[in-house]
Amino acid sequence: MIQAHVSNELFQRAQNSIPGGVNSPVRAFRAVGGNPRFMVSAKGPYLFDEDGNQFLDLINSWGPMILGHAAEVVQEAVQKAIPDSLSFGAPTRKEIEIAELIVSMVPSIEKVRMVNSGTEATMSAIRVARGYTGRDKIIKFEGCYHGHGDSFLISAGSGAITLGVPDSPGVTKGTANDTLTAPYNNLDAVKMLVEANKGQVAAIILEPVAGNMGLVTPQLSFLQGLRELCDKEGIVLIFDEVMTGFRLAPGGAQEVYGVTPDMSTLGKIIGGGMPVGAYGGKKELMDYVAPAGPVYQAGTLSGNPIAMSAGMAMLTYLKDHPETYTQLEQISAKMVAGMQQNLQQLGLNYTINRIGSMFSIFFTQEKVVDFDTAKTSDTALFGRYFNSMLQRGIYLAPSQYEALFVSTAVTEDLVAQYVQANLEALQEAHQ
Ligand code: PLP
Repeated sequence: MIQAHVSNELFQRAQNSIPGGVNSPVRAFRAVGGNPRFMVSAKGPYLFDEDGNQFLDLINSWGPMILGHAAEVVQEAVQKAIPDSLSFGAPTRKEIEIAELIVSMVPSIEKVRMVNSGTEATMSAIRVARGYTGRDKIIKFEGCYHGHGDSFLISAGSGAITLGVPDSPGVTKGTANDTLTAPYNNLDAVKMLVEANKGQVAAIILEPVAGNMGLVTPQLSFLQGLRELCDKEGIVLIFDEVMTGFRLAPGGAQEVYGVTPDMSTLGKIIGGGMPVGAYGGKKELMDYVAPAGPVYQAGTLSGNPIAMSAGMAMLTYLKDHPETYTQLEQISAKMVAGMQQNLQQLGLNYTINRIGSMFSIFFTQEKVVDFDTAKTSDTALFGRYFNSMLQRGIYLAPSQYEALFVSTAVTEDLVAQYVQANLEALQEAHQ
């Protein structure tokens, strides 16, 4: 039995000074029951908590740690940069280098602006789209999460679902009215929305592979159809690749599916674990951004030299080591094949969605293609499964509506350990 005395005490204490005891809601474990574990360090595939427990980590800081924790290549770059000062608030050579690298890797990006989070990236991208088109409305998809910007907290995924606030108080009616929503993978619904709001839609924003309602992959025809529709109607197509960027391929989901949006938003891996986001796209759109153009967007710490050094090291490694993606594919496929075998052995029929190193199990027999089908999953069963896995030293995302992220630090031995834990946890969760 894994002990959690110190974590439990810290969680009690945290609640006196931090709302809900955490700095991001999903960390509080509310969707799965029990208390969160407080971490002290991490190395390779493992997290170590305040009680001295070791966990095989399948969240990897919600995506960034694609090479496992404390990857040498990133740590070294950060250590090398620190003596030169932590921030200048003035331009640096590193910012040009990372911008050039991103442009060389991501098909849709001709120019890029660095920000400090995925939320900032998506907020800024729709502002550019609105400024460029002179239109107010945006279309997003039910169950997609684009950070906590007001315009996106409408039918939002991730922590917003598990907390039961997919439409958050505090978002004004005016803002909500400008966000139209459609079911994921449903091109006809989007066409109807565009028709009903002719000439008013500035942008269609989506996760090209959705990871915030659990993992849901797009139909290729859906992505292609959106591309055609946006071309026809003068709408800016934005792929939010905060999760998928540099994870599914060096050029993200747009490279995998061969569909190029007008703009892309990035985060997570781009900072190698430091707080970084970015938005970029066609020159004519990005030249609308201040000071080149009239759309204002700024940041005291944007392009921070330590963060840029971490990101540069991470992206350079991924660009120079394309075999990383083959390795991630193989390891993740083995994990999921093991889970499928376990389900078969136990006579259970649940849905597992996977692409590359992202996957989710849904406790439903339905094919999960959008938010409605994702919601058919038995979340109480997921909670029991999650806690059984945690007791076996496997740290999963504490919510049904999240994807797991595999890192290159997961070895064959760890796959075997994971698959065995999965078998036992499935059994225990059904008792
Ligand atoms: N967009 C997507 C697809 C995300 O998954 C997230 C965060 O999980 C965000 C945007 C927001 O990024 P951040 O949490 O860095 O603000």
